Amino acid sequence: MNLEEFKSYRKMLGKTQLQMSQLLGTSIKAVHSYEQGWRTIPTHVERQMFFLISRIKENKKDLKPCWVIKKCPQELKTRCPAWEFQSGTLCWFINGTICDGTVHNNWKEKMVKCRPCDVFTAIL
Ligand code: SF4
Repeated sequence: MNLEEFKSYRKMLGKTQLQMSQLLGTSIKAVHSYEQGWRTIPTHVERQMFFLISRIKENKKDLKPCWVIKKCPQELKTRCPAWEFQSGTLCWFINGTICDGTVHNNWKEKMVKCRPCDVFTAIL
């Protein structure tokens, strides 16, 4: 997540920098630094930001689970943690998903796959 995205998502949530720092469990100084580009936005902050946005958007939309959208075969679906934890609209949040047949090594790799996906873009 870059600084412009961070700022626009904070505004999407309608939060001040102080409120955002409280929601992210970090200092207001850290939020200033993210928005000024002095600090890279850590993966746990990015994850939390997307999670908060998804909670607001999901309540406004009738979202389908990822296994329906991606038409996952039963064999793949039942091995995937998104199915195991019944998180079909939060699959992008859960590490270890196997929608492309393999588990990603880390959050960054996962985001490369998830960001253009219909399941993820539906929340933004
Ligand atoms: S690519 Fe990501 S967002 Fe799309 S179905 Fe898989 S885990 Fe979910």
